[in-house]
Amino acid sequence: MESGCEINTCWLDHEMKIIRVSSTWDNFAQENDGLSSCFDKIKNRSIYDFITGYETKMWFETVLKLAELKKETISRNYRCDSPNLRRNMLMNATYESSGEICIEHILLSTELRKKPVFFKSTNSPGKKAPLRCSICGKIKVDKQWVEADSHESSQFNVIYTICNGCYGKTFTAL
Ligand SMILES: [Zn+2]
Repeated sequence: MESGCEINTCWLDHEMKIIRVSSTWDNFAQENDGLSSCFDKIKNRSIYDFITGYETKMWFETVLKLAELKKETISRNYRCDSPNLRRNMLMNATYESSGEICIEHILLSTELRKKPVFFKSTNSPGKKAPLRCSICGKIKVDKQWVEADSHESSQFNVIYTICNGCYGKTFTAL
């Protein structure tokens, strides 16, 4: 990955379908998810197909609503980690005058994890799967939200949600 500020942008139409991406998009997708997130595979699909968890979808919807109502760019920090790296990202959501919604994902910084961690998403609440916040990346262990690499295991089946802190930051802004 080149140094400097990396920005990947996608544009949505009013039905939340992905209609365009920046030229940097496919490179980032290949480095992170393999080919499954390349533009060819996501074109004209709803962005909600790619957001895991009901609460996370709600969070995203709220950020977009804020951008629409305030007619300004709404920025939120989030994490997009890989097994070895904590990646601190910024998302900017803007309603453009054309009616398209511009979503920028900016890589702000990375930190090496203490040890690699691997996550799998599960949606069977019957099993004792820990919750993981889609925004700050922390997992809930013994009622506390903690960094996954401070936990003794390194493989987690998690249920994606939004932690109270991240929920509060977005909803109190309304
Ligand atoms: Zn969180």
